[in-house]
Amino acid sequence: METRNGFAGSVGNTPLIRIPMLCEATGCEILGKAEFLNPGGSVKDRAALWMVREHEKSGALGPGGAVVEGTAGNTGIGLAHVCNERGYPCIIYMPDNQSQEKVDILKTLGADVRVVPTVPYRDEMNYQKQAGRYAAELPNAVWANQFDNTANRLAHYASTGPEIWAQTGGALDAFTCSVGTGGTLAGVSRYLKERNPNIKIVLADPHGSALYNWVKTGEAVMTPGPSITEGIGNSRVTDNLAGTEIDDAVQVNDQDMVEMVYALLRRQGWFFGSSTGINLCAAVRVAKEMGAGHTVVTVLTDTGHKYQSSLFNQEFLAQRNLGSVNQP
Ligand code: PMP
Repeated sequence: METRNGFAGSVGNTPLIRIPMLCEATGCEILGKAEFLNPGGSVKDRAALWMVREHEKSGALGPGGAVVEGTAGNTGIGLAHVCNERGYPCIIYMPDNQSQEKVDILKTLGADVRVVPTVPYRDEMNYQKQAGRYAAELPNAVWANQFDNTANRLAHYASTGPEIWAQTGGALDAFTCSVGTGGTLAGVSRYLKERNPNIKIVLADPHGSALYNWVKTGEAVMTPGPSITEGIGNSRVTDNLAGTEIDDAVQVNDQDMVEMVYALLRRQGWFFGSSTGINLCAAVRVAKEMGAGHTVVTVLTDTGHKYQSSLFNQEFLAQRNLGSVNQP
């Protein structure tokens, strides 16, 4: 076993994990990139580290500086860890529709958390826009700007994509994952398409997002929601996502996602969050469409620990007609 240097040195190089239950169901190899094993607990550690490093490289961030971000949670968690290791204060704006667990973790990690009302992106009081304005006002501060800062997708082009390629020996037929900022899908797909343009790239979208329609029709028109998923779906095409070669999209509803997450918990021993559920449902759909004998890779983004009060709360599910799946 290798030794890794510090927090930053522990980001990435995650295992690729076979999910036997889904392989049996499809006759395909269904493999999940275990991003929940990053040291901050999610796929967003990579983006956090790359964005901070790029800001340092450009000279915008250095000793005495601070990092400001608007985030639904996991990017903030990654940034808080990275900032603690490098000695930067971390200020996080987040919408008030996110799980309390994520707010609590961010505070415990020492971030200055500012929970603001949930309003659409076009509104000047949107959490991302508030973060950008605050960073501009604060001397020596940078706005990480995960949605439109392409250091985010670079993280996945430079690390996640090459790792998946090496771990499969290039023998994969499709890659699918859901999109928040688009950094993961855009970076991984760019790398894989360069290696083999026949690898099929499929965007997985929850309900209440515009990206399914964007892929299918070219118009970013919202589908009816809502969805209980967190951190994925978007009403717009970010700079990270723009220009990405995407072959197809699938839409996954919350009921299928919930059943997937609970089946993995009860039958396979995994405790995953909602975006991982969406990703695995999409991987199964892609595998079934392609037929037996194919290899489909997706992303295991984070664990269920942050969703105790939502996805793993029976009352919460029942109120949304998502019950009757938690029978041991
Ligand atoms: N899953 C989870 C749990 C996330 O927090 C995020 C990021 N918001 C994503 C998936 C989507 O990743 P990306 O931003 O790279 O599209």
